[in-house]
Amino acid sequence: MKKYLIIILLSFFVTLNVVSKNNVDETKKVVALTFDDGPSRYTNAILDILEKYNVKATFFVIGNKANIYPKTLNRIIDMNSEIGNHSYNHKWLSRLNDTEFLNEINKTNEIIKNITNKDLKLLRPTYGAITRKQRKLTNLEIVFWDVDTLDWKIKKVSTIVNRVLTKVSDKDIILMHDTYERTVAALDIIIPKLLEQNYQFVTVSELNNIKKLEKNLDEYL
Ligand code: ZN
Repeated sequence: MKKYLIIILLSFFVTLNVVSKNNVDETKKVVALTFDDGPSRYTNAILDILEKYNVKATFFVIGNKANIYPKTLNRIIDMNSEIGNHSYNHKWLSRLNDTEFLNEINKTNEIIKNITNKDLKLLRPTYGAITRKQRKLTNLEIVFWDVDTLDWKIKKVSTIVNRVLTKVSDKDIILMHDTYERTVAALDIIIPKLLEQNYQFVTVSELNNIKKLEKNLDEYL
């Protein structure tokens, strides 16, 4: 029994090491920037800033906007950032019946696959609302957030920046929207500040993998 435990432990350490070699520096804190409701005319400016600091993020896109910005969506993928599903029409998902819900999700999956050739893995429910039954209807991983910038409501860039810097901690997901000019300005301050504080930026799927591996390790240690 002990032998098996050691083998299991070793395999987890090896996997953790592979993850760290590819993506993650274990000596640093991690954070995932997420942008909802795009793509929009501001998404490219967001990507310019991510490129400037050589960091990545996750974009939860609305399906009905995808065909307006196909180049932007492919740029997200080329920059090793991630695209997630944020429904097709931005309806309240929890108020839809099963067919309507699946339609909202599947249409966006298909349109993104057609443009980027990528299968989506993540779903951020509109307004953070999804029923228990709906969760079972989809294979997508449901993603909420830890730090809400309220960038859709707060107009002052410094207030948005301060909200993030005072609230953020290791392994947090930050919620922003790539649909406002002020978000672009705030991001250009937030990223260098977090880099100074020894954060590294990962996609939501990478963050989920880190959390899963750590949970597995905790269970065996
Ligand atoms: Zn939204």
